[in-house]
Amino acid sequence: MAKIHNFSAGPSILPQEVFQEASQAVLDFNGAGLSILEMSHRSKEIVAVMDEARALVKEIHNLGDDYEVLFLQGGASLGFLISAYNMMRDNKKGGYITTGSWASKALKEAKWLGGGVEVATSKPENFNHIPKGYSIPADLDYLHFTSNNTIFGTQFHDMPSTDLPLVCDMSSDFVSREVDASKFDLIYAGAQKNMGPAGTTVFIVKKDQIGKSSIDIPTMLNLQTHAEKDSMFNTPPVFAVYVSMLVLRWVKKHGLAEIGRRNAEKSSLLYTEVDRNSLFKGTAAVEDRSHMNPTFVLADGVDESLNQAFLDACKDANISGVKGHRSVGGFRASMYNALTIESVQLLVDVMKDFETKNG
Ligand SMILES: *Cc1c(COP(=O)(O)O)cnc(C)c1O
Repeated sequence: MAKIHNFSAGPSILPQEVFQEASQAVLDFNGAGLSILEMSHRSKEIVAVMDEARALVKEIHNLGDDYEVLFLQGGASLGFLISAYNMMRDNKKGGYITTGSWASKALKEAKWLGGGVEVATSKPENFNHIPKGYSIPADLDYLHFTSNNTIFGTQFHDMPSTDLPLVCDMSSDFVSREVDASKFDLIYAGAQKNMGPAGTTVFIVKKDQIGKSSIDIPTMLNLQTHAEKDSMFNTPPVFAVYVSMLVLRWVKKHGLAEIGRRNAEKSSLLYTEVDRNSLFKGTAAVEDRSHMNPTFVLADGVDESLNQAFLDACKDANISGVKGHRSVGGFRASMYNALTIESVQLLVDVMKDFETKNG
């Protein structure tokens, strides 16, 4: 079978060596004579997996004992509600920077709880940039933002600066660059963009924020429930956490600094071609362009039929996943950690060739 260069936005590419090791664990986990899929989550082998995954998240982010790491279910979409529930204090008001579809969905959950306030938005410009120069009301319990906008191809290159507790949906750029995680009170991320398979969501929460909500929280949505039981209040998504653990080992081996450098190099290679090529143009403000999900469309005046023709050219080159999201159109080349620069170079070559034939 031909190698496919996977530019999918998620679920997405993971390191090949992780697929190998995970498939072995399905057959026989560490010589136990059992598949990882049939082992009790209370067995010492699985408890070790859960503990290592949680420890790796802390280690990679240089976090100490003042932080708790949890692997839960429900996706980042349930994280919108979990974060709002757990971070509401006496003001019963969370502030949101709405920079895209996911950020808007997070705000919706806080509004459902009766306390979501939009602090800034780039919606009138179809989310093509990160808002700047806004003021943050002082009577908020927390400030929520989405560090990377998977659909619109923008990314916070500088984190918002505030004295409020900082909450971040980091789903699509988790472990993709160096971040000062100690500036955050709560980070959550669905695994399936950069860390693992769908089925688990990581939460990194400052311990002194646990159990402080002004709202009565249903058991399963209360981070305290899970913190008290080391993410084992009920059966955890063992296999999703195991694969995430393997990816986190890979991240630790390379280091966030090196991974961030490579991701910047990959995106710069692609954006340079988008800007050079007469058939294409970028959609996001240059200073806010995402290193993870570059978005681009046909340049003004270019025949629309080239949309499908370009996707066909990609397919012929064994490149998959570059069709843009319907809310932006055109193309999106997601370049998560495990995608190599050779794959990006191939896409760039296809773009050059496409221009020669159609320009
Ligand atoms: C994909 C994504 C989500 C939704 O994740 P689910 O796990 O499918 O709920 C939320 N936020 C961001 C930034 C995403 O990229």
